[in-house]
Amino acid sequence: MTRPSPASALNGVQVGNICDRCNRRIRTGDMAVVYATYYDPDGWVVRRVMCDCGSRTIGLPTDGADEVIVEAVWWAGRLVGVKTVDRSRP
Ligand SMILES: [Zn+2]
Repeated sequence: MTRPSPASALNGVQVGNICDRCNRRIRTGDMAVVYATYYDPDGWVVRRVMCDCGSRTIGLPTDGADEVIVEAVWWAGRLVGVKTVDRSRP
């Protein structure tokens, strides 16, 4: 089975709006930085939502996980315009 691209899988996904790093509130139109992982059979799952303060690199990789950092616009509870900025697997 082909793994969907994180950018298309996470586009339109519903997420909270409190930054997991600094606790700031993310408002509609603000940039959000999102860390997500891929595991079968769940697909891409959002693990952390951060405001603009979030790191654009994955850092220490988790064993065997396909991990991604995306930038997106937070729009009324959903991620839009999702763009991959870092990924643990090519
Ligand atoms: Zn923040």
